[in-house]
Amino acid sequence: RQEFSIQSVNVSITLCILGFIDTEMLRGKRVIVTGASSGIGEQMAYHLARMEAHLLLTARTEAKLQKVAKRCLELGAASARYVSGSMEDTAFPEVVVKEAENTWGGLDVLILNHIGYTYFNYFNGDVEHIRKLLEINFLSYVAMTVSALPMLKESEGSIVVVSSVAGKTAAPFSAPYSATKFALDGFFSSLRHEFIIDKVNVSITLCILGYINTENAVRAVSHAIQDTPAPKEECALEIIKSGVLRRRELHYPSRAVGSLLLLRDIAPDFLDSLIRSSYKVENIRRT
Ligand code: NDP
Repeated sequence: RQEFSIQSVNVSITLCILGFIDTEMLRGKRVIVTGASSGIGEQMAYHLARMEAHLLLTARTEAKLQKVAKRCLELGAASARYVSGSMEDTAFPEVVVKEAENTWGGLDVLILNHIGYTYFNYFNGDVEHIRKLLEINFLSYVAMTVSALPMLKESEGSIVVVSSVAGKTAAPFSAPYSATKFALDGFFSSLRHEFIIDKVNVSITLCILGYINTENAVRAVSHAIQDTPAPKEECALEIIKSGVLRRRELHYPSRAVGSLLLLRDIAPDFLDSLIRSSYKVENIRRT
C-alpha cells in the first residue's frame, strides 16, 4: 500500500510540473467562491463541483445562487451552500467567512472574484462611484482575506484573486475599474512577500485575465472592442488550476496577456498607442 501511495504522490508531482492538476486534489476541499451567481465565478463553481469540493457561493442575487448551488450538487459537489448579500456592505465579507467557519470549521481555498457595476466610458468625475467600487472590488477582498486568514493558515490553504490586464496596464474608458484592479496587485503582491518572510504557508495567486465571453463583459464592451473574447469555461478552469498549483500569477489567455505585459515593460508608449488604436472610439458616446 505504501508503494501505491508513493506512486500516486509521484504522479501528482509530475502532473503539477506539467501544469496539469489531479482533480482529486480538490476532492473534499472547502472552497469559498465570490461572484458565483454568473460569469466566470459560476463556471468555477461547476468545475469545483465536478472535482467534488465543498462549496460556499456568494453574490447578491439569491435566486441565481440557488440555481447554481443546485446544479453544483447535480454535478457532484461534496456540498453546496450559498449566502447572498452585497460586498458594498462593509459587514458582509465577515458574514461570508463566518458561514464557512460555522459550517466547516475551516477553509482551504478562498476565491475572490466578484466585481461591482461600473460604466465603460470617459471618466465622468464621479468620485463617489470610485469610492463605492473600491469598497466592492478591493476593500471587501482585503476584509475577506483578513477574516479567512486564521483558517487558511491552519489548512496551509490558498487565496485566489481574480484581476485583469486592466490591473497591470491601463486602457481608456475604465478608470474606476482599472484603479480597483491595480490596488489588488499592490496589496496582494506585498502580502505575498510578507507571507514568505514570515513562513506563512498560504499561497496567493493573482489572475490577470484578458477579454472573456461573460454576458456582462460582452454587453459592456463589445461595441468598442474588436477582439474575440476567450471562453469563460476554460478561463474558470485555468484559474482553479493556478490556485491549486499555488502559482504566483495566471495570465489568461496566456499569449495575448504575455505579449501585452512584455510590451508594457520594453515599449510602453508603443503599447499605449496600440491599445488606443484597438478601440472603436467613435462608438463611445460620452454620458
Ligand atoms: P460578471 O459580471 O459575470 O459577474 C460578477 C459577479 O459579481 C456576479 O456573480 C455578481 O452577482 C457579483 N456581484 C456584482 N455586484 C456585487 C456586489 N455588490 N456584491 C457582491 N457580489 C456582486 O463578471 P465576470 O464573470 O465577467 O468577471 C469575473 C471576474 O473576472 C471579475 O473580477 C472581473 O474583473 C474579472 N475579469 C473579467 C473579464 C471579462 O472580460 N469578463 C476580463 C478581465 C477580468 P450579483 O449581480 O448577483 O451580485
